[in-house]
Amino acid sequence: MAIVRDIDIIEEKQPSIITQPTPPVDPTVFEKRFLKKIRELGEGHFGKVELCRYDPRGDKTGELVAVKSLKPENREEQGSNLSSEIDILKALYHENIVKYKGICQEEGGQAIKLIMEYLPLGSLKEYLPRNKSKTTLSMLLSYSIQICEGMDYLGSKNYIHRDLAARNVLVENERTVKIGDFGLTKSIKENEGYYTVKDDNDSPVFWYAPECLTLCKFYLASDVWSFGVTMYELITYCDSSKSPMNLFFSMIGQTHGQMTIIRLVKVLQEGRRLPRPEGCPEPVYELMRRCWEQQPDKRISFRCLVEKLTQMLQ
Ligand code: ADP
Ligand code: MG
Repeated sequence: MAIVRDIDIIEEKQPSIITQPTPPVDPTVFEKRFLKKIRELGEGHFGKVELCRYDPRGDKTGELVAVKSLKPENREEQGSNLSSEIDILKALYHENIVKYKGICQEEGGQAIKLIMEYLPLGSLKEYLPRNKSKTTLSMLLSYSIQICEGMDYLGSKNYIHRDLAARNVLVENERTVKIGDFGLTKSIKENEGYYTVKDDNDSPVFWYAPECLTLCKFYLASDVWSFGVTMYELITYCDSSKSPMNLFFSMIGQTHGQMTIIRLVKVLQEGRRLPRPEGCPEPVYELMRRCWEQQPDKRISFRCLVEKLTQMLQ
């Protein structure tokens, strides 16, 4: 009885302690003051990604997360891009797509940050050159299958990625990879089947299909083309001397700006493609070539790629 009476007394003095329930905590809202930067993980055209510890208790027991924000110079023009990346990633659930954790909004509501799971091994572009000796061709094919699974799921949601490349595929462990970076991802209208880009300054041209370069039209099949280039990167262990950019430049000569695109379109139209990498079995190269059909509707689908690649692994 004494305890009950004590509570009554406390409640009288400080009603808020007992009667007011604590507000429900939204686990997807991260407070900026608890987000401690550890180091930079990487940066692309518009954004940068940092490794942080979210440590509300302040005793370094909090979890590690990857935090994506826009570089200050891009805040104004690209702000809506990061917001759309957040909205897209939030609605994607697949084992081969990086997991969304939440957002962090700065005071005043201006700059928003995207909080994702942290994948300690980085992107394939960093991982493969370092781990060449222990990564077999079967493992590369397995990564390729996982990328196709993720892409097939993305396509089923009517999204086109538009930036599929080894730099945007993250490594969870030596068996598992996940697609990251949905910064250029767009939703396509079902009746149209493609997306038209308006601003095209920073497009990854050497990963792009001819229709993207000439008409600025992106189909699901345009991602298949980029997947072919990504698979080429995997088979070369992302060796930068054999990078798609270097090889295309050796075909078209060193050029700048629009001229690069004009010449690239020309060599592709002539039917020229990235060469078969050293050590790449003919059937694997054959699959890449089926991603690089000039006409989008002639290209192989992600579903069919999964099937063919799985057969090769057996
Ligand atoms: P951008 O849109 O600027 O290209 P990305 O999302 O591709 O940004 O991230 C840039 C780089 O940061 C990646 O290539 C990768 O090396 C690293 N990175 C991104 N997300 C993660 C993550 N969740 N875990 C570990 N490293 C990451
Ligand atoms: Mg990127």
